[in-house]
Amino acid sequence: MNYFEYQKSELYCEDVPIKEIVKAVGTPLYIYSHRTFTRHFQVFDNAFREIPHVACYSCKANANGALLRIINKLGGGADIVSGGELYKALRAGIPSNKIVFSGVGKSEEELRAAIKADILMINIESGGELALLKKLSKSMKKKVPVSIRVNPEIDPKTHPYITTGLKKNKFGVLWADAQRLYREIAKEKYLLPVGISSHIGSQILELAPFIETVRSLKSMVRQLEGEGMTLSMIDIGGGLGITYKDELPPNPEEYAKVITEELKGMGLTLILEPGRVLVGNSGIFVAKVLYVKKVPEKTFYIVDGAMNDLVRPSLYNAYHDIKPVDESLGTGTKVDIVGPICESGDFLAKDRGMPELNQGDLIAIFGAGAYGYSMSSNYNARRRAPEVLVKDKEFFIVRKRETFGDLVKGESTPSFLEV
Ligand code: PLP
Repeated sequence: MNYFEYQKSELYCEDVPIKEIVKAVGTPLYIYSHRTFTRHFQVFDNAFREIPHVACYSCKANANGALLRIINKLGGGADIVSGGELYKALRAGIPSNKIVFSGVGKSEEELRAAIKADILMINIESGGELALLKKLSKSMKKKVPVSIRVNPEIDPKTHPYITTGLKKNKFGVLWADAQRLYREIAKEKYLLPVGISSHIGSQILELAPFIETVRSLKSMVRQLEGEGMTLSMIDIGGGLGITYKDELPPNPEEYAKVITEELKGMGLTLILEPGRVLVGNSGIFVAKVLYVKKVPEKTFYIVDGAMNDLVRPSLYNAYHDIKPVDESLGTGTKVDIVGPICESGDFLAKDRGMPELNQGDLIAIFGAGAYGYSMSSNYNARRRAPEVLVKDKEFFIVRKRETFGDLVKGESTPSFLEV
């Protein structure tokens, strides 16, 4: 369910015509729907009403400050993976006791900042990280709540690039090692073993891998209890998939039901790290057709949005639904929709049935709210696109288009090159 709909053959976000936003902001650009994002969070959060829980929005999906502020207003927390995400989450007002920190390569500086901020828990992903945390907690004389991110060796049956819970993946700690690390933590004055965590992958479309994960975490919690270690939190990560094309992911109620059944009565607070399911279909990316180029084999719609703006098609061969902003009937011919970047891998869609479009026509790329802007870059010295948040009849620029000045910000010229 989202609020990007056609009204009299023209695409709107909530009550604002896309064309009106384009007129003011230009293309390419990201547009987010406040109503959709709010609804997605509320439906997700409410689905877990029967058990104590904190829904920690996974900032990596889209860390625009306006979206983080919405999460905060709705009572959500944040799942962070860097010092930058910690900074942004705190800046948006998200209380530190609702922030969890995952990631395989947290630096000393990042760990110090998290300890200083008194976050809910740090999810340790290696023995080396534990050793550093021991040292830091002692020197800072702070009791640090920690969990171990275990690798449950479960196949989520998703794209290999977004699978994280297999033995060969770099994430988490295998159970035998985790057990040893928990014993080490228990001996430390300044480390508090409060939780256990896991995240097996993203865009997961079946319930079974989640159920398997929760069961294996539960059994680990029990084994630790047997050793006199009582945890209070179980963090099952994110990963619930969404519909990009014709996928049928479980809805949040179905997802919550099976997890609630597993955890009810255990006295544990459930930590969730949803990203894509909240923001994916809350955003679109809008681009303009620059040229229609026909070669004997193909027709290309060359648009002004590219892989630097939305890398998912190039990176994962991901499918995004693409429609013209002016609704036209029929699917015309098969076209490749490509950007201006000097890479053959720069495409938004391949062999896609599209209506006949002309120079200047606008297209909307759906499902672009998650891992869209957050994975964008300046490749080919392209300025990053602006982001706009629509709320009812109004729209707000929540990030300006970058300037050419932004492209050289931070660069400096050695004296021998000065002219
Ligand atoms: N938590 C962790 C540790 C992650 O690595 C990710 C994404 O890869 C997420 C949460 C969010 O996943 P998703 O956007 O699929 O919900």
